[in-house]
Amino acid sequence: MSTKRYTVTSALPYANGPLHIGHIAGAYLPADIYVRYLRGKGHDVAFICGSDEHGAAITLRAKKDGVSPQEIVDKYHNINKKAFADFGIDFSIYHRTSDELHHETAQDFFKTLEDKNVFTKKTAEQFYDEENNQFLADRYISGKCPKCNAEGAYGDQCEKCGSALSPEELINPTSTLSGNTPIKKETSHWYLPMQNHEEWLKLWIEDGILNGKNHHNAKAWRSQVIGQCKSWIDGGLQARAMTRDLDWGVKVPVKDADGKVLYVWLDAPIGYISATKQWAADNGKNWEDYWKNEETELVHFIGKDNIVFHCIIFPIILKAHEGYILPTNVPANEFLNLEGKKLSTSRNWAIWLHEYLEDFKDQEDAMRYVLCATAPESKDTDFTWTDFQARNNNELVAIFGNFINRVVVLTNKYWEGVVPACNTLDAYDKEVLEKLKAFPDKIGASIEKYRFREALGELMNLARLGNKYLADTEPWKLKKTDEARTETIMNISMQISASLAVLSEPFMPFSSEKLKAILALNNVTWNDAGGIIINDNHKISPATHLFNKIEDEKIEEQLEKLKQ
Ligand SMILES: [Zn+2]
Repeated sequence: MSTKRYTVTSALPYANGPLHIGHIAGAYLPADIYVRYLRGKGHDVAFICGSDEHGAAITLRAKKDGVSPQEIVDKYHNINKKAFADFGIDFSIYHRTSDELHHETAQDFFKTLEDKNVFTKKTAEQFYDEENNQFLADRYISGKCPKCNAEGAYGDQCEKCGSALSPEELINPTSTLSGNTPIKKETSHWYLPMQNHEEWLKLWIEDGILNGKNHHNAKAWRSQVIGQCKSWIDGGLQARAMTRDLDWGVKVPVKDADGKVLYVWLDAPIGYISATKQWAADNGKNWEDYWKNEETELVHFIGKDNIVFHCIIFPIILKAHEGYILPTNVPANEFLNLEGKKLSTSRNWAIWLHEYLEDFKDQEDAMRYVLCATAPESKDTDFTWTDFQARNNNELVAIFGNFINRVVVLTNKYWEGVVPACNTLDAYDKEVLEKLKAFPDKIGASIEKYRFREALGELMNLARLGNKYLADTEPWKLKKTDEARTETIMNISMQISASLAVLSEPFMPFSSEKLKAILALNNVTWNDAGGIIINDNHKISPATHLFNKIEDEKIEEQLEKLKQ
């Protein structure tokens, strides 16, 4: 089997708040499933993420809380890094953009682009707060929304109606720093004329063609991703400012740029590259293999609010720099709602990951399972606590857990944990073994198409196959009359269990680990699954519960918590 090299990124979370399940379902869990699968197949994967620690929202938050921006980002970087690790999101590195290596990398990028005349420099009037002697970032200006008339809309967006705005559109704009009406003052910025890149972008996105060659299968991209890009391109791309007047961020590394930093578009995505550099340095690898080798597949996992950023702006920057590969897929997810309403950090309508991990100890996989089973892959979906409970109790416990429990308990009861021999196979046994053999490729094919819900559904079908086999053959009845037949049935059930242990790893790594320990499985990989993994006379451990039932009161507690 040939192996490949992959660079897989998940959107850098903004370090001004904790993570909620919508973030996880959008860009982290699917990436983790994909990466665990690739690693299981023996591929070489760099799984890259980190905190985005710059931007006006962080300085604004720091001012409000009376602390330094560094204190804000240190706090949330650490909370989020721990929550990811505790939830089993297995990044190769979780880096941060306040790191010096990142600043250097982003500045080098800027300088190269500036040397190649990729930018245009323009002077324009912008809002300025005279009391604070500061140009105002979009977030620092608020006023009445021109679209819905709500007060308190920001210079970049109205949170009430969701319209994207520019500061000039606000009615009665005020500075959120001083509360004064800002004046207009001239300032200069570096702009990226995106319209110059329209032609190749169109070919690349719609047909998968880059520099006259096939780059990727455009039909494999999600339709909503292509659709959003097309509507941007058809609407006419424009020049966008790549720098901002702000004192927190990566300084613009040229003369006459005092008080200017790189805007998020030239900062956060470069974070993927600087994180890869750090990981490579720590692990004796060459980072360029992961970003500059055309044999490497680059895949960005993001939410739908990041499509334009990762499919248009970042590719323009990478291509204009030259020498970098472009993504072969950007499997963006739609949004996850909570109990029928949009998840919202500011309104505290969310299930916070670090709180879930505290409230549901050792049940990481229950949430991983439900978030994958209901993932918003092609449209927005809804998370409800009662559905969570039902899926845990009726699927994980009643199907997967029940099958494993019966196999392990019977093997311990009848043969003191020693796996019995496989004797003569009848037609039904052969049929079941044949079906078992097909599962690794079926699940793998769905994962490779970024259809994680479908892949998880197939995994559960394997557990269903095991349950049905046991229910049809009833080995507990045969034990007294036909020992040889009982042995064969339990041997085959044990092979199904072993495959479940391997194939569940990308989705439910904690349970997979537990099951491997129960079955005393060592060094089995994805490529072993589907076949005969466990030999006769192999000794397994006593049964422990893989999944635990979730009681009504636990769910009521969570529903209560949401109302607070
Ligand atoms: Zn509005």
